Amino acid sequence: MTNPPLSADPVTLTHPIVEISDLNKNFGQVVALRNVTLSVKPGEIVVLLGLSGSGKSTLLRHVDGLDTPTEGSVRVLGRQVSTLRGRQLRKLRQDIGFVFQQFELVPSLTVLENVLIGSLATLRGPRLGLWSYPRRLKLAALGHLDRVGLLERAYQRADTLSGGQQQRVAIARALMQNPKILLADEPVASLDPESSEQVMALIRDIALDEGLTVLCSLHQVDLALSWGDRVVGLRHGELVLDTPTEGLTKAEVMAIYGRVTTSTSALEVIERELLSTVSMA
Ligand code: ADP
Ligand code: MG
Repeated sequence: MTNPPLSADPVTLTHPIVEISDLNKNFGQVVALRNVTLSVKPGEIVVLLGLSGSGKSTLLRHVDGLDTPTEGSVRVLGRQVSTLRGRQLRKLRQDIGFVFQQFELVPSLTVLENVLIGSLATLRGPRLGLWSYPRRLKLAALGHLDRVGLLERAYQRADTLSGGQQQRVAIARALMQNPKILLADEPVASLDPESSEQVMALIRDIALDEGLTVLCSLHQVDLALSWGDRVVGLRHGELVLDTPTEGLTKAEVMAIYGRVTTSTSALEVIERELLSTVSMA
């Protein structure tokens, strides 16, 4: 299969930036995704909503080529992800920032060094210490730290920051790649409600400013509705909901989950997880 060049591809401006067709993913006997079809336009902010185990992380990992489909196709920025190897895959990943629930910072390094790690893919060889990064990257990193409101923390160790602050550092690190797509896998699941709101608002502001396309998994209906342009609901690996959030109510979302639920106990789990306010992990 041939792929067009990754950069300066005018096709990606009008075509879906992520196009998933009939994606199936099995892990042995476990069906993680079943016939998922999803198309995301450039600049869209999409929330993946679903209980734990519904397939959210697996879906995000396919976009970045961290998982490969059992069946079906995943096209990202005009490229068939499963055909990419080596340099081409690294090039695609450079266009995709990833933010995780547990932040994944290096605790013993300074905040600034953690942000600079986001630029490593563009540099040759290992980097040891701040002095080893080019000045232009250090300035860019400071700019991104300013953007997330943490400029004054640049020289502090990462593990001295609060969870919400660490997640903002992780966002700044992702911005070092100048990504076109931002994937966020339950970015606020370990945060208190106030920090969660802050982090989600920050992701949204940055996405709008930079024209980023965002795919973010969450498990709370409230946050999904207040924050996304569009909500995609997964249940046992199947897509059960795909609709704009505007005008959508919590009751309607719950009704959709209710309709596809076969037992009262299943409904109880859904209510407990999806209707919970942000968890205090
Ligand atoms: P979510 O992110 O919504 O919690 P996941 O995508 O992590 O869901 O998981 C979907 C299903 O696939 C679950 O049943 C999970 O146990 C299974 N799964 C995910 N990754 C693996 C793996 N690497 N090996 C085996 N099973 C997996
Ligand atoms: Mg997950």
